[in-house]
Amino acid sequence: MPGTSASAPTWLDPVAIETALARESAPETAVVREILDKALALEPLGPDEIVALLRVKKPEDLTLILATADLVKQKVYGDRIVLTAPLHVSNTCASECRYCASRKGNAAVQRKRLNPSEIREAARKLIRQGHKRVVLVSGQSTESDVEYWAEATEALLRLFDGMGEIRRVNFDLGVLTPDEYAVLKRTEAGTVNIYQETYHEKSYHNAHPGGPKSDFAGRLQGPGVALESGMPDVGLGLALGLGPWEFDLLGLAAHAAHLAQEYGAGARTVNLHRVRPAPGCDFQAPYALNDDEFLRAVAITRLAIPYTGILLTTREPAGVWREACNIGCSQLLTGSVANPYESWTDAPGEKAPFPIGEECHLDEVVRFLLEEARHLPSFCTACPRLGRSGQEFISLVRNGSIKSQCGPNSIAGFMEFLINYATPYTRQLGEKVIAEKLEQLPEHERGAAERLLQKVRSGRMDEFI
Ligand code: SF4
Repeated sequence: MPGTSASAPTWLDPVAIETALARESAPETAVVREILDKALALEPLGPDEIVALLRVKKPEDLTLILATADLVKQKVYGDRIVLTAPLHVSNTCASECRYCASRKGNAAVQRKRLNPSEIREAARKLIRQGHKRVVLVSGQSTESDVEYWAEATEALLRLFDGMGEIRRVNFDLGVLTPDEYAVLKRTEAGTVNIYQETYHEKSYHNAHPGGPKSDFAGRLQGPGVALESGMPDVGLGLALGLGPWEFDLLGLAAHAAHLAQEYGAGARTVNLHRVRPAPGCDFQAPYALNDDEFLRAVAITRLAIPYTGILLTTREPAGVWREACNIGCSQLLTGSVANPYESWTDAPGEKAPFPIGEECHLDEVVRFLLEEARHLPSFCTACPRLGRSGQEFISLVRNGSIKSQCGPNSIAGFMEFLINYATPYTRQLGEKVIAEKLEQLPEHERGAAERLLQKVRSGRMDEFI
């Protein structure tokens, strides 16, 4: 079998997870409240507590879970929803993940590796929408691509397009070696995302039959290696539907707890995405989640790992991601400009081209968020640029002090978006939401926000405290 688990780390204990999941009974409401109080105190939940929440059946208890997930998110991150664009720079890959169009054996897609000038062109499209944050996405080759990624990162961070620039580059690149991380560290590298996809070993091997990603244990150890190699932050993630989702939530929580205990840093973000159809892939997710199950998974993840940024994609139906923003989601991936998969349905019978134009305009996503009349779309990149990463960032989140910077910074960054990129209707909605948010801020934060806003209105950019 590819990627045996001979050296699977001890922090992932499948027997303990199955034992916890064997519970069938729903907890009493008083027990549910106790667990939710613990989450509200920003204490991560253990496996038995997570399973108790998974077993809740009473509608009123379920409502309480969703409402508390929202309260926890508000307590940690306030009203912000951070917006990041995926930038697919390459779809060449040595792995054979059955659900992914980039898998090596897939003859249905055109292969492409953007050169620096194409990367800049794709980035310009994002900048012109108002994006400030990108996650660089690439397939995984056997030979090292790290010089290419480092070059791409520098090209992105040096690009100024008259009105704006990319200020933060995160990575979805697969597992790297310490030497490769050393190359990435020469750039202003952001969070390294290494998604386990599923913690259920049998399901993992079923979905990942060949190539570097078939190494289950190596993948599990990847985030720890990144932190040991001096990368500032790591992100975890699930491809929900590959494995039993309840098992996967427990595996994810165990992984985050291990990183917190071992490195003090925890998981900066957690990406929850459902497996989707992809060109050239006849793979059916064996444990597909319906919308209600997906939303419950989002809310319980927020409660189980309270400090983490929960990241969803706007490739989920709009009704689902909008609802998720009300129950714990704090970040959205949106506005891909170079995506090898999405144009397939437009060109049946032809190879899916790469890259393609953007399919989800940022202004529309911002408008959807504003129409809820409570979220503050955020483009803020202050923390990493002030060195607030890893353990320091998590400590600020846990003691609640991060919010005093986030409120003013997010408002200033959002005003920059409204002035320079928003349609008139979105700007009108946005100005109204900013006025309301200012009213809600404590006095000292309001003063800081108003000073930043004054600078932005007078034409200055990239203002933060
Ligand atoms: S390693 Fe990533 S890009 Fe390559 S086939 Fe697997 S999921 Fe797709």
